[in-house]
Amino acid sequence: MADALARTLTADGGVRGLAAVTTELVEEARVRHGTLPTATAALGRALTAALLLGGLLKTDERVSLQWSGDGPLGGILVDATPDGAARGFVSRPQTHLPPRNGKLDVGGAVGRGLLCVMRVPPRGQPPYRSVVPLASGEIGQDVASYLVTSEQTPSVVAIGVFVHPDGRVGAAGGYLLQAMPGADAAAIDRLEENVATAPAPSEIVRAGLDAAGMVSSLMAGFRQGVLDERPVRFQCRCNRERVECAILALGRDEMMDVLAGERRAEVTCEFCATRYVVEEPELRALLDASRT
Ligand SMILES: [Zn+2]
Repeated sequence: MADALARTLTADGGVRGLAAVTTELVEEARVRHGTLPTATAALGRALTAALLLGGLLKTDERVSLQWSGDGPLGGILVDATPDGAARGFVSRPQTHLPPRNGKLDVGGAVGRGLLCVMRVPPRGQPPYRSVVPLASGEIGQDVASYLVTSEQTPSVVAIGVFVHPDGRVGAAGGYLLQAMPGADAAAIDRLEENVATAPAPSEIVRAGLDAAGMVSSLMAGFRQGVLDERPVRFQCRCNRERVECAILALGRDEMMDVLAGERRAEVTCEFCATRYVVEEPELRALLDASRT
């Protein structure tokens, strides 16, 4: 099933639903960062969470989520845009723990700590930051707790990643359901019932449902309004010019040291693990440019 994000609102505006299929995107993240299964699940869930929250943003905004836990995984940093580009990394990609209750122990890998959610508006406006304690480190529950405590929006978030025994990602996806202000009690009861009877998101994806199919099944019994669906992908914003800027920011002395020593600079993007090599002639050109 192709990676996509689907969004819908009930005809009366009372309930909003988003669902994402992210299997290929999470597999790409695994390959780029060389993650082991528990780390793959943690990173994949976080990337999916960022895409779901990104689906609530206005155009040109961006959302960034940072988990800081005391578990062996260290931190997770992911971000996403409303047009479906997500990127991210974990501090210790080689983290793998014994399963707990037959599932990858993401909560154990993340540990206890904080989730920082940052909404970045278009250029010039200050970002909106919010920090909440981690509910469980299981990612979906952490994001639901953020939406309830920080944005005062009753929300259900479920996210899952299924990893094959050989480490490849078999299925990944998630959903976010919200009762909008003024939603009636019957609507909330129905939503709770739909969620209680729904299989886990990774099972829904493994069963072959696409993002639109997933959100429609969770909104069963509601009169649905317009449904929109868009592709999502792993995509970083790094490029060679940004790397050159970072090298310039080191300052002339440091650049002279590099030229006198290794004579080339290697920079690896944390978000996507792309490696940039800046060779001596380019470094000299940058040094010349920094003189002006
Ligand atoms: Zn990058």
